[in-house]
Amino acid sequence: MNYTVSLVGNPNVGKTSLYNRITKSCEHVGNWHGVTVERIGKKVTIEGDTLFVTDLPGLYSLSVCSPEEGIARDEILKKSSDLVINVCEVGNLSRNLYLTLQLLELGVPVVLAVNMMDELYKRGQKLDCAKLEKALGVPVVPVSAKYKGDEKELLRVCLQKLRNPVAAYVRLPYTDKLPIARVAAAMEDKAKKAGWDARWAAIKLLENDSFVCETLMPDERERNVLSALGDMQARVAQVRYEYIDTIADGLILPDPAAKRRKRKHSDNGFALSGLDKIVLNKYLAFPVFLLVMAAVFFITFGIAGNFFTWLLELGIDKLLYAPLVGWLTKIGCPAWIIGLVGDGIVHGVGGIFVFLPQVVLLFFFLALLEDSGYISRVAFMTDGFFRKIGLCGRSAFTLLMGFGCSATAVLTARGLDDEVMRRKTVLLTPFMSCSARLPVYAAIASAFFAQGKPFLIFGMYVLGAAVAIGLAALFEKCVKPLKSGKLSFIMEMPPYRFPTFERVWQIIRHNAKVFIVRVGTVIFALNVIVWMLANFSLTTGYTAGNGGKSILETLGMLIAPVFKPLGFGNWKAVSALLSGLVAKEAVISSVESMGGVSAIFTGAHPALSALAFMAFTLLYVPCVATLGAIKKELGAKWMLFGLIMQLFTAYAVSLIVYTVGLAICAGKGIVVGVGIVALIALMCTVALLRTKKKKGCAHCLRNCNGCAKTKKEEHAG
Ligand code: GDP
Ligand code: MG
Repeated sequence: MNYTVSLVGNPNVGKTSLYNRITKSCEHVGNWHGVTVERIGKKVTIEGDTLFVTDLPGLYSLSVCSPEEGIARDEILKKSSDLVINVCEVGNLSRNLYLTLQLLELGVPVVLAVNMMDELYKRGQKLDCAKLEKALGVPVVPVSAKYKGDEKELLRVCLQKLRNPVAAYVRLPYTDKLPIARVAAAMEDKAKKAGWDARWAAIKLLENDSFVCETLMPDERERNVLSALGDMQARVAQVRYEYIDTIADGLILPDPAAKRRKRKHSDNGFALSGLDKIVLNKYLAFPVFLLVMAAVFFITFGIAGNFFTWLLELGIDKLLYAPLVGWLTKIGCPAWIIGLVGDGIVHGVGGIFVFLPQVVLLFFFLALLEDSGYISRVAFMTDGFFRKIGLCGRSAFTLLMGFGCSATAVLTARGLDDEVMRRKTVLLTPFMSCSARLPVYAAIASAFFAQGKPFLIFGMYVLGAAVAIGLAALFEKCVKPLKSGKLSFIMEMPPYRFPTFERVWQIIRHNAKVFIVRVGTVIFALNVIVWMLANFSLTTGYTAGNGGKSILETLGMLIAPVFKPLGFGNWKAVSALLSGLVAKEAVISSVESMGGVSAIFTGAHPALSALAFMAFTLLYVPCVATLGAIKKELGAKWMLFGLIMQLFTAYAVSLIVYTVGLAICAGKGIVVGVGIVALIALMCTVALLRTKKKKGCAHCLRNCNGCAKTKKEEHAG
């Protein structure tokens, strides 16, 4: 038989972890809601039956909602699943069960998976599952999704329930305290037409659930029935919570056997809440964050990364390039084939492939930080700051994901419930330096700035973030459709959790695979195309030696003058940027296939041109995939806006980098330095004055806690 099963629960209870366990897959586990933005699903076969399991976005209640909660709610109300696995967190049962009760009211078949049992065992406690089962009338399975093993029992119970479906409605005792019968009688026909149980619809109407109200559209008479009952919304919540209180009482007991079980998980025991004193400290938080990130970058792009990359480079050169070219020459291949294979493919594609170790290392550290709960702390502590510029700590997550891949990060913004904030977050995410840009920096930095490489690369990441923050502030002040103003939202801080090796390994494997597949397909194809365009002319054929202008050269030369002021106004640099539109890695692989970095940045200040080029690469249009994602999220108009904004920003910043650099090179270093300091000082003063003005009194400019108009005279003197 084929069955559909969906995972439903509050945000952050471990649905995705459980999904990954059940389906043996590798979806992103995040520490707060909004990560599972699109519905994901996968088939698992057990004992000859096929279960199609989907992981729905988290939600707190069926009466909601943010757009992503809406996805989950609609899916549940459709009752399209044969079974709902309701995931709860054992440490938060009282709150989680609120949704459980709503599911039971709806009458969908439920199996309750109580997750994070490991944390309960660690505290030397146990859960009275039998009591919970009796109170709710559904099977209860304790699990620890973080560890392997429990999913088997869960699947067994689910299968049993699926194979022997019983009447789904559980008569919940508290519903008798509500005047359901009267409303149900009045609404019976309409509810039936909508495919709903009348009693359930009645509860929802009492709750004033907007979705049900809009669907059923009570007429005059029905509204009278409802309004005669008074405001029942709070009452419904109250009876549910009262019932939860009676269940929860005595549900968690001390467990003498816990010591034994505790040992099973104790290797992962992690009591680090004291760490929060430092990590969330008002003054230390930011330095700690910078220190952590700097350490990550130093290891990834400094010592360790360099070594592995050097090893790979050596391998490719000695074991692949030299023998291959030698052999091709020996069998008498035409020069252009040798060029294509040797430079276009082996050097071009290989030039990207050698960055695999650095990508793996970066994701290794990000996985550690994320899985331990540190990244959500970053979001938490940055919330205040982000609000000032019209974003929130939750946007920080999307922005951080942007360090991985802009295109996917853009999709994670869907969890943001405020439209303007979402729009802003999506538009700014591409400025965060995605991992595809990394090979570009790494190659250029090694060529021109060998000593300062880790710092320079770190600087690029910081520059991207700074530009994003600056633009956010600018939008908040000047662009009306991007002004978000005051917003309220709740964010939860998960406890520190020890990252599991398995999880970290999954993340690394996944990202390495994505990287290798990209290199093997898109980058490979692009390189062949770019190499052909760069080495063939429409009129004279293969250009090597015959002095003809290649197609790319002709094209690039048309646009090149535009980039003169930025220091890289030559056709090779321009065509590299053009190929970067398809995939950013292609920027450097086409540079490699056109003669390498040194052939491109020439002139009086090659290093400076290279720096400006790096800044441009960081900020100009991300790949077409990202543009596609932005279009999907915000529509064509906003995508176009983003595109123009990115090109403009890239040009402006790159111009500043080059001009300031030239001035410094020309020995005007001190002048420029003083100028920059003066500018920053001026900006700070203006900012301070503005805030003072706001805080102080509008009439007297004194800090009088805002005197009312009536006190005007008093201050006038
Ligand atoms: P979702 O929002 O419901 O999809 O929750 P996630 O699957 O993203 O998990 C949220 C956090 O809880 C992650 O940091 C997980 O590592 C952690 N987590 C999930 N299951 C368990 C568990 O059984 N025990 C512990 N200690 N942590 C868990
Ligand atoms: Mg999830």
